[in-house]
Amino acid sequence: MRRYSAFAIAREGARYHTGWERAWKSPAPKKRYDAIIVGAGGHGLATAYYLGKNHGIKNVAILEKGWLGGGNTGRNTTIIRSNYLQDPSAAIYEKARSLYETMSQDLNYNVMFSPRGVMMLAQTEHEIRGYERTAHANALQGVATEFISPQRVKELVPIINIHGPRYPVLGALWQPRGGTARHDAVAWGYARACSDMGMDIIQQCEVTGVRRDGNKVIGVDTTNGTIDCDKLGVVVAGHSGVLADMAGFRLPIESVALQALVSEPIKPCMDVVVMANTVHGYMSQSDKGEMVIGGGADGYNNYTQRGSFHHIEETVRALVETFPMISRLKMLRQWGGIVDMTGDRSPIISRTPVENMFINCGWGTGGFKAIPGSGWAMAELMAKGASPLADEFTMWRFGEGKFIDESVAAGVAH
Ligand SMILES: Cc1cc2nc3c(=O)[nH]c(=O)nc-3n(C[C@H](O)[C@H](O)[C@H](O)COP(=O)(O)OP(=O)(O)OC[C@H]3O[C@@H](n4cnc5c(N)ncnc54)[C@H](O)[C@@H]3O)c2cc1C
Repeated sequence: MRRYSAFAIAREGARYHTGWERAWKSPAPKKRYDAIIVGAGGHGLATAYYLGKNHGIKNVAILEKGWLGGGNTGRNTTIIRSNYLQDPSAAIYEKARSLYETMSQDLNYNVMFSPRGVMMLAQTEHEIRGYERTAHANALQGVATEFISPQRVKELVPIINIHGPRYPVLGALWQPRGGTARHDAVAWGYARACSDMGMDIIQQCEVTGVRRDGNKVIGVDTTNGTIDCDKLGVVVAGHSGVLADMAGFRLPIESVALQALVSEPIKPCMDVVVMANTVHGYMSQSDKGEMVIGGGADGYNNYTQRGSFHHIEETVRALVETFPMISRLKMLRQWGGIVDMTGDRSPIISRTPVENMFINCGWGTGGFKAIPGSGWAMAELMAKGASPLADEFTMWRFGEGKFIDESVAAGVAH
């Protein structure tokens, strides 16, 4: 059995980039696949992996217009938690969190899962009530969380100022087994496992059309030519509306850029993840020592993948009262990703109006944590036609008024 060190991850990346350059120049494979997955982000790769591992479906191609994990999967701030309010959400996010616990062993690839604990600060009376309610819901769902006092917050995060003049820390929702993982390692780990099962990962191959025979999908048009398939899984995050349009239906999704930034690396000073949703900012420290700081979404729909000055100012201004030490840090870099937002801030894992075409999207600002659970559910849906984890997340719930309202848990949080 091959063993991979943390350093080997970079080498692995290089290996897949070599494949991408090959695929770029070659025409599409002339074979028919049992399933095509569009999008080699974490959710698409996890879907392919569990199709093979759990259901024995290995004649699979994963088509990616850019490079492995180059979308939101490689751009997020890596927070993993499952402290959601509604039962269907807690079920899928906790399934995902528990799969993260053993992912490195499962994939034989170090994804650096670090269950260091995630805390969501309560900085208003409203938030205290909301998080206490979530803690009670989590107790019923079997998700280990608790509401902790400001003194306990200070013990866990010595650099925090709990007596801020505008928003003092009044307590926090604490999930001790939440944490972080190395985001691109998650993509590469799943990719290598899919490749080892004989699946084709074709990078620099953009899907430009969905081919149908009547109402049944029969393949896709790509920039490399046409490719046939029996089943199609679309897992393209911010471009979900574009792919749905190709297939002739509309999705209740809006795409918007979400931004983040990191500081210069400093010595270890904070070993938990802290989220401050009232002021909207959150922070953790990476293994390299950078303070990883998440900011807000643009206030208008767009397909850009860039940072902007006003978000740096807004985010740092929001956090500096609670973390005065960040006023002394230099920013190293800033970026953005295109997130796919639904009205109830819950995902869509669903059949579609086109037969044998399935869609997984709507993870918005918080889908990194869900990757293994989402892939597990999407694979089951594609293989068997239904999945208990996905039952409630259909695209038709918006028309039926069956929202899974997580706008407090996920509207601006991650
Ligand atoms: C700044 C930021 C911070 C975030 N922080 C967190 C966090 O802390 N915790 C958390 O849980 N979540 C977070 N998220 C959200 C999380 O990153 C996403 O929900 C998740 O990565 C979505 O994964 P995905 O596989 O669905 O999408 P992506 O990783 O975006 O993958 C979709 C892929 O589809 C490809 N594609 C698109 N169109 C086509 C086409 N026509 N043909 C072929 N390929 C196509 C794209 O190139 C892309 O690679 C954050 C997001 C951002 C942007």
